[in-house]
Amino acid sequence: MDRNEILSWLKETDTEKLNELWQKADKVRLENVGPEVHLRGLIEISSYCVRRCGYCGLNADNKLQRYRMTRDEIIECAHAAVEYEYGTVVMQAGEDYGLKTEFIADIVREIKNTTNLAVTLSLGERIDDLAIWREAGADRYLLRFETSNHELYEKIHPSLPNQNCDRFEILKKLGELGYEVGSGVMIGIPGQSYETLATDIETFGKFDLDMIGVGPFISHPDTMLGREGDQMKLPEGQQVPNTEDMVYKVVALTRLMCPQANIPATSALATINTEDGRENGLNRGANIVMPNLTPVKYRAMYEIYPDKACVNETANQCRFCLAGRIESIGRTVGQGQGGRKKII
Ligand code: SAH
Repeated sequence: MDRNEILSWLKETDTEKLNELWQKADKVRLENVGPEVHLRGLIEISSYCVRRCGYCGLNADNKLQRYRMTRDEIIECAHAAVEYEYGTVVMQAGEDYGLKTEFIADIVREIKNTTNLAVTLSLGERIDDLAIWREAGADRYLLRFETSNHELYEKIHPSLPNQNCDRFEILKKLGELGYEVGSGVMIGIPGQSYETLATDIETFGKFDLDMIGVGPFISHPDTMLGREGDQMKLPEGQQVPNTEDMVYKVVALTRLMCPQANIPATSALATINTEDGRENGLNRGANIVMPNLTPVKYRAMYEIYPDKACVNETANQCRFCLAGRIESIGRTVGQGQGGRKKII
């Protein structure tokens, strides 16, 4: 797929033409990753963060009530994942150095020793810890590059003092360490052009990512973008909107670009269309959903964006709700870890 084709799909508004794109993506999804939808149990293990990201409600400047889960709480969530027959747990958090290297390594070892789960980490730019966690048994790592536009990225993701971190270098290192590598972008960030978004999609292909998460940017009032986002928007016709349809286009084009990747119908997508955002994502290229396993008492505190879907539901409710949604569209819940099968 060449760049002009990507750009013209991103700007397409004709419903019938778009139906062609959805069908094409759905067919490529079926041929490459099959009818199964794999479930990844998400555990939001800490809301502390040292970063000042302009998009995220967990940014260090935001005065909110923070939490960090205990070892026992995390292990208990992992055992719930086994009971619910999920194949993977994803441990996600702000970039929280209070989650010590050994604390995470020990939890990974415990989960790997006592379950058949795949373990995915999404703990930010913890460059010095990646090798140790991999050795402890972590299978996968998620780190979105957020946008391929360097200037925009610097604005919305300021570096830490004395540390210039390149997420692309980290993605490369993750691959070298033997992780399955996941990344992705937000769609409709103020200042994101169609050209940038086309480059994002090309970049997914270039890095041959194993997992690609894309979701709408959702403005959070207590962030830089919440305050200044409107001024950062590009003129009409250049600015990518953070609409549901734009997300579906990117999901579909990502499937065409990376036929074998694992692509979730994200919670952010379910947040902007609680009714059937997930189902539509699954019908237009996606093959993964991530039910939340975080204890209810912590969920509202992990507010990366407002009004997150399912924030008041228990893990058990999420499980039945999602299984029902998957079956309602004629798909099946995947068994096993559902890793990327690399076909060379
Ligand atoms: N600290 C980790 C995990 C961050 S949360 C990290 O930085 O990698 C996971 C993802 O949520 C982010 O990578 C970002 O793409 C997404 N996210 C954060 N704030 C968001 C917002 N306001 N709207 C939509 N997605 C957001």
